[in-house]
Amino acid sequence: MDRIDLRSDTVTWPTPEMRRAMAEAAVGDDVFGEDPTVNALQDAAARRLGKEAGLFVASGTMGNLVAVLARCGRGDEVILGDRAHTFVYEAGGIAALGGVHPHTVPVLPDGTLPLEAIKAAIRPDNVHMPATRLIALENTQGTVGGIPISKAYTDEVGRLARAHGLALHMDGARIFNAATALNVDVADLVAAADSVTFCLSKGLCAPVGSVLVGSRDFIARAHRVRKQLGGGMRQAGTLAAAGLIALDRMTLRLAEDHANARRLAEGLAVLPQIEIALDRVQTNMVFFALRPEVPVSAPQLAERLRRHHVWIMDMGERGFRAVTHYWIRPQDVDRALSAIAEELS
Ligand SMILES: *Cc1c(COP(=O)(O)O)cnc(C)c1O
Repeated sequence: MDRIDLRSDTVTWPTPEMRRAMAEAAVGDDVFGEDPTVNALQDAAARRLGKEAGLFVASGTMGNLVAVLARCGRGDEVILGDRAHTFVYEAGGIAALGGVHPHTVPVLPDGTLPLEAIKAAIRPDNVHMPATRLIALENTQGTVGGIPISKAYTDEVGRLARAHGLALHMDGARIFNAATALNVDVADLVAAADSVTFCLSKGLCAPVGSVLVGSRDFIARAHRVRKQLGGGMRQAGTLAAAGLIALDRMTLRLAEDHANARRLAEGLAVLPQIEIALDRVQTNMVFFALRPEVPVSAPQLAERLRRHHVWIMDMGERGFRAVTHYWIRPQDVDRALSAIAEELS
């Protein structure tokens, strides 16, 4: 890349190997189910996550929307976190397009939703109330710092869902970061979830796409919903070819991104102008803030860093988010740290 872009792992460019695979991909009409590369990606994703079937979708937002709409009818309810991506950052799609009622419970600093709050949110069978159909979790939980949530917790929510006849959906946009950080097999981590979406396009470097996985029946329903939403693509094997490399290879190197996030966090922690909670840096995200006495604002500092070819996302007047990924090397972290130290001195 032509700059040190720490704003998000969504900024990643496809690797040269991906570009070659895309150019050479075997393709067919995927609306007819005839694209061999899409089919290979869907099968590989399902196998890797321990589910029966997969569906290639245009984005993580589409994957979550398709998953919710394949489970819930109009007026049905989904229980999800009040800081969940699906609640905050997906343009209200589940309500706007599906008439699905979101019932939020608080996201705790460790990324979990309190079990008691989930339990209390499940509706009794009462004609006055919406019908609860689905619980949705997010792993890693982005808004609290990319915190991975454990298999034990996920299993517990899965038991609660089953005891009430509900399904469990996992927004696993960064599920491979979670599995890497927790050092568990990804299929084990999501074993309790009936469906999972994960993004090929973030730290995994593919240019486009996510995969939704679940049971064969569920994916058949999801397939129809994807078509309704205009998400039926034709020779999508050109995209899926990059997705296969993302899934097979890029998932194996995420510990490097986590080490670089840690390197950045530790470098920031020694700057007297910076506030940072090192114990909250567990995957590829680093949240930090300027101390109150620092005379520059976060947007001003972010602007000045661009002169050093360092791009960081400011969040409010004092805060920042930095995200490491494939295109950030240890020496880029060190250059970003020098630029920040220079601008603050
Ligand atoms: C990125 C992300 C998504 C999906 O985003 P798209 O930009 O639509 O691909 C969903 N959930 C979480 C937690 C995310 O970080």
